[in-house]
Amino acid sequence: MDCLFCKIAAGDIPANIIYRDDQVMAFDDINPQAPHHKLIVPLKHIATLNDVQPENNALIGHMVLTAKALAKELKVDKEGYRIIMNCNAGAGQTVFHIHLHLLGGRQFKWPPG
Ligand code: 5GP
Ligand code: ZN
Repeated sequence: MDCLFCKIAAGDIPANIIYRDDQVMAFDDINPQAPHHKLIVPLKHIATLNDVQPENNALIGHMVLTAKALAKELKVDKEGYRIIMNCNAGAGQTVFHIHLHLLGGRQFKWPPG
């Protein structure tokens, strides 16, 4: 499949991988928007949040808990951090394989742009 994150998961495209288990992987975003900007990506290909089904419930929960654990590891858990999943082009999704952005290490504004 012609998917960037499937290729990273398969090891065909390099990334700075900071975590991997049997369900998800996490690596540095190539174009960081904060001092810490990690992507938490399921190994299974799901194109957008619109494609997530009830059977993916545990996987989505595991992605969120992985983000939480990484935030603690990066020592941004106390000061605060943000997780984001963009869905479709209008929200800024550019890679059509779902992923959580974990952003930390600076002050964030609300509402986001
Ligand atoms: P989206 O815009 O789909 O929510 O997020 C896609 C993210 O993937 C962007 O933040 C972008 O910087 C990142 N990205 C795009 N290409 C690559 C790549 O080849 N390697 C890595 N590590 N990140 C990438
Ligand atoms: Zn994929």
